[in-house]
Amino acid sequence: MTVLIAVAGSAPGIGKTTLCDGLAAHWSGLGLRVDHFREEEILSRPEFAALAAEFRETGRIAPATILSAMAGHVEAVLADPPDVLLTDALAPFTASLVAWGHSEAAISSFLSSLSSLLTPLKPAIVYLDGKPPAAPARAIEREGDGWCEALERERAITLAGLRAQPWELVVVDSTAGDPLGTAAGALVSHVTGTTDFYCDEALSGRTPVKVVAETDDVLAFHHTRPYWPVHIVVVPKRHVPSLVDLGDAGDEGLLAVLAVVRQVAGQVNREHGAASVQTNLGRYQDSKHLHFHVSSGAPIR
Ligand SMILES: [Zn+2]
Repeated sequence: MTVLIAVAGSAPGIGKTTLCDGLAAHWSGLGLRVDHFREEEILSRPEFAALAAEFRETGRIAPATILSAMAGHVEAVLADPPDVLLTDALAPFTASLVAWGHSEAAISSFLSSLSSLLTPLKPAIVYLDGKPPAAPARAIEREGDGWCEALERERAITLAGLRAQPWELVVVDSTAGDPLGTAAGALVSHVTGTTDFYCDEALSGRTPVKVVAETDDVLAFHHTRPYWPVHIVVVPKRHVPSLVDLGDAGDEGLLAVLAVVRQVAGQVNREHGAASVQTNLGRYQDSKHLHFHVSSGAPIR
């Protein structure tokens, strides 16, 4: 099963290419077959020949031409499917369509058609959000606010359009510490199809984690996609489904986990003056492997 991961961004120079390169290396490193479609390939891959010709002649591309090229591309991809088709060019095209003066209604209709086309590729969009970096900011000073307002409008149209599609949407703050880690962490289940991040990723070593405490039976580590400034997860090393379904672990297994939860929560409380301990069930439990969150501070997302 191929998944399409498209990286989009709120401004030029915000780090799309760096993020794409990082994600390609990350997933290749996990043994996945990654087809990294770079922006310039749109001018060289055969499915996009008509599109490239139209762009050379007119300096713009009709939505119908984009859709027809994308239909050809989906076919080409499915003929020899990689695990991940990673791109910063193939979706959502909204920046260009806004720049070429298409209306919001036209863009919304384009995105619906694109969405139908892309369904076999299970698309997810990583939207790198943030203000333009230093160099374009100087351009804003020179050229006034118009440029900034245009970007803001493009951002609003893009995000609204993306939210209306049945696509996985991951919005990443470009100024936050680790956009790559955040994006990769948010897409683990989408890319690998896992519903057990702990067995499949953290405990198997496929996703590296920063260990806080470890015993023979229990591992505590910093959450790979934290919700709080301090966010540690504590898990049994053997598979245990949840707090109410202890599987083979029984009360003894639970006590072993709780001993580490007490130790970690005590340490967080001493260091930060407050700690919260939480575990989830049912729809609230996204990974079906018992885990306790030990946190401190106000939610960061
Ligand atoms: Zn498990």
